[in-house]
Amino acid sequence: MKRSVGWIIMSVLSGSAALAGTASAQSPVRWLAHDMQRQRPVVVTPGKQSLPVAAPSDAVVLFDGTDLSKWRDAEGGAAKWTVKDGAMISVANSGYLHSADKFGDVQLHIEWAAPLPVVGSGQGRGNSGVFLMGLYEVQVLDSYENETYADGQAGAIYGQYPPLVNACLPPGEWQSYDIVFRRPRFHPDGTVARAARISVVLNGVVVQDNVEIWGPTAWLQNVPYKNLGDKLPLSLQDHGNPVRYRNIWLRELAESSDSGPPAAPARTLVELNADELQPFAGDYKTILGDFAKIELDGKQLRLHMKTGQLIDLLPTSKSDFAMRFTAGTLHFQEKEPGKVSGFTMELGGQKYPVNRAPSP
Ligand code: MG
Repeated sequence: MKRSVGWIIMSVLSGSAALAGTASAQSPVRWLAHDMQRQRPVVVTPGKQSLPVAAPSDAVVLFDGTDLSKWRDAEGGAAKWTVKDGAMISVANSGYLHSADKFGDVQLHIEWAAPLPVVGSGQGRGNSGVFLMGLYEVQVLDSYENETYADGQAGAIYGQYPPLVNACLPPGEWQSYDIVFRRPRFHPDGTVARAARISVVLNGVVVQDNVEIWGPTAWLQNVPYKNLGDKLPLSLQDHGNPVRYRNIWLRELAESSDSGPPAAPARTLVELNADELQPFAGDYKTILGDFAKIELDGKQLRLHMKTGQLIDLLPTSKSDFAMRFTAGTLHFQEKEPGKVSGFTMELGGQKYPVNRAPSP
């Protein structure tokens, strides 16, 4: 059936409108992978870096320039890439490299160099990849004056997120990735509780800012998330090009610096009436000069600090108060009943004596 061009355009438009209409908040409209209409990232020339970057004291060093003892081939055998001049080099048809140890949340530093002389173009030029957990690829490509689709450039989360900018150095030069990766979390039934997230800095320039990975990266396929474990080997891609790597280290990341759930505030509040609270109101000062004013607002005692903070004080005894939102206390001294002479503020492991200012 012959249809007019206008009809086809209308169909395409209404089709995409329907897609947009059905896309809910959970399912945003996305670019199709490798769409050549997607804008190429603008070129940014990185500042001069000092490489290699030394590993911190708690880093796991996966390659220090000497051997491939921390790496395996796909079958768990000896890694078949070569080591030369302190670099490991991808060997065509030798397969991906996989770290012998497994990792989940990491900060990863890795340095790489695209091959010289330049051979091939587009995705065929200096292609490799850093696969977090062996599943999520940060693309390695010679993206220096090399035309290809946006989501396949160096620093792309392959097929998902183009780099924010193209900060690639010329082939042959050492470049660095600094990657912060948070693995996906799964519910016990295998559904995704939290997608993986990743940030990538290429040559000192942010190219991915905490983006949410849709699922394992793949070519021409949409691979759904699957719980394969909390830790999996890091992989490096053999894409047939002699890309070099060196100085590979990572730090395993804790969920947070907290050692456990927060303790319930160790304070028991008491009720004081306005008459009992009134003696604490007034002007106070430290030996350094004016410090604070305490005001009574209804039944709420409030500390106005000279630096501008307003702090609700909660009574824990007839002479002790706790700050509402901070682990700080005020212990008041009385010269005689009802005559407050000052208080000691305890905050952050330090004590601050504060005196009642003389009445004007
Ligand atoms: Mg690749």
